[in-house]
Amino acid sequence: MQVPFVDLKAQYLSIKTEIDEAIAQILQNTSFVGGEPVKQFEKAFAKYTGIDHCISCANGTDSLEILLKAMDIGAGDEVIVPAVSWISTSEVVTLVGATPVFVDIEPDYYTIDAEKIEEKVTSKTKAIIPVHLYGHPANMPAIMAIAKKHNLKVVEDCAQAHGASREGKVVGAWGHCASFSFYPGKNLGAYGDAGAMLTNTPALAEKARRIANHGQLKKHDHQIEGRNSRMDTLQAAVLNVKLHYLDQWTQARINNAAQYSKLLAGANIILPATQANVRHVFHLYVIRSKQRDKLKEYLKSQGIATGIHYPTALPLLPCYQRFKHTPNDFPVAAQYQNEILSLPMFAELTEEQIIFITNTIHKLY
Ligand SMILES: *Cc1c(COP(=O)(O)O)cnc(C)c1O
Repeated sequence: MQVPFVDLKAQYLSIKTEIDEAIAQILQNTSFVGGEPVKQFEKAFAKYTGIDHCISCANGTDSLEILLKAMDIGAGDEVIVPAVSWISTSEVVTLVGATPVFVDIEPDYYTIDAEKIEEKVTSKTKAIIPVHLYGHPANMPAIMAIAKKHNLKVVEDCAQAHGASREGKVVGAWGHCASFSFYPGKNLGAYGDAGAMLTNTPALAEKARRIANHGQLKKHDHQIEGRNSRMDTLQAAVLNVKLHYLDQWTQARINNAAQYSKLLAGANIILPATQANVRHVFHLYVIRSKQRDKLKEYLKSQGIATGIHYPTALPLLPCYQRFKHTPNDFPVAAQYQNEILSLPMFAELTEEQIIFITNTIHKLY
């Protein structure tokens, strides 16, 4: 048996008729940019999250960068980010001219360690970007309390956590604004790049919308300069179809994770933990093993694809050598980068596949 890490084709085939029809319609009416499906998706996604304003854009990285820009964060400012994330989270801070300041992760849930944030706050700190890593919501109550105390903005990076919630409140609704990615492999994925910004603050929503479309709300109304970061109509049309299935797919991911955890009990590996009061949406199912590389190779030899998210903690990447960080600065992140392994995770994963994967893991231990 071969098990891919994600199976986008299985998902496409399950909704093929609807997708083909939605795409064919745009090819017919040629509304490739700024078509009606884009507005429809913004409305639908705002409704889905319960957040007032949804502004679509070209990708998740842009959505983070545009939000920072819209809040006037730039040269001389510092932004606190977790030591473990996809590079977009820290890259956007540099892109707006500010400095990323890294904080280690929680040992149990892998999101930014709220207890270690305050020691990194300086007079230059302007914002925190918590990441709901792997689909597990970050510790938003603690993060919002710190932000309030120090007058900081909070931009939630929800790229891996569509539909996740904490204490019944969805991710994206806790901070001042939120960023989503619809990269194909995300829990809600387009058929190319796409992203969105969400906020309950009207002025911030308007500015973000202007920046994403050359400073204009309507044609030739350039109050400010912006850029081109629009969501394609084709991507919006795909997302409109897929949004209807998101809850069903999320539930399938949660069930798959529970099945993994049940069948992996007793193996000499650490399973993902979910905090009480949290809806973890399992973008990734990440285990830890002291023999990670051996396990990865063995699974590969048996036809099972896995991933590492991420092989190097952000502050230890070559591109951040300028900060002269050492593994001792981020003991949890530095240790875990050698132990983490992401098993195949997608809604269409079958029970048969999960049994095959977990049996294979038990064979090694
Ligand atoms: C995917 C991802 C992004 C960036 O999204 P793109 O759409 O690929 O630009 C940002 N942050 C995190 C945590 C991500 O996983």
